[in-house]
Amino acid sequence: MNNNKKPKVLLHICCAPDSTASFERLKAKYVVIGFFHNPNIHPEKEYQKRLKEAQKVAGIMGFELLTPPYCPEEWQREVKGCEHEPERGRRCELCFRFNLRAAACKAQELGISYFTSTLSISPHKDSDLILSIGDGVAKEFEVQFLRENFKKKEGFKRSLEIAKELDLYRQNYCGCLYSQKDKDLET
Ligand code: SF4
Repeated sequence: MNNNKKPKVLLHICCAPDSTASFERLKAKYVVIGFFHNPNIHPEKEYQKRLKEAQKVAGIMGFELLTPPYCPEEWQREVKGCEHEPERGRRCELCFRFNLRAAACKAQELGISYFTSTLSISPHKDSDLILSIGDGVAKEFEVQFLRENFKKKEGFKRSLEIAKELDLYRQNYCGCLYSQKDKDLET
């Protein structure tokens, strides 16, 4: 389909590897605009590293990438009281909502009808929860949430293949300070 006829979708990108197969799936039907909003990532050096990799993917695969300012204090406020919840618990739910709200708000601001997120591609994350948060946030901002479960149709496997081809950095912890500590305890 001609790009002029395709609707736009704002794709919240949590990391470069996850963006690859998600972009590949969307690009036939949509003009994809990436949105790297991840104030959950700690420390800032790691955030910068993941951002650079996302920029590399956008350059190679050919999409625009929006990079809002890094605001870890806002994220900390959001998850206050749930810092020590286990991964996949309440802290993660608040984290998903925070990033999805930012994406919906940006889509509304830019007049982009759709938004979605690469978060659903990860086998470590609850896609049903992400999709239901996306639905709620969409109502709040009056934009449409694309209910894409990127895990389906071997999406994660495809992301591994492309990440390998592009020699992308793949992190060994989800992103926040607490997930980093949990990982350190495992090793
Ligand atoms: S573990 Fe990942 S999803 Fe959960 S709060 Fe930390 S960064 Fe967010």
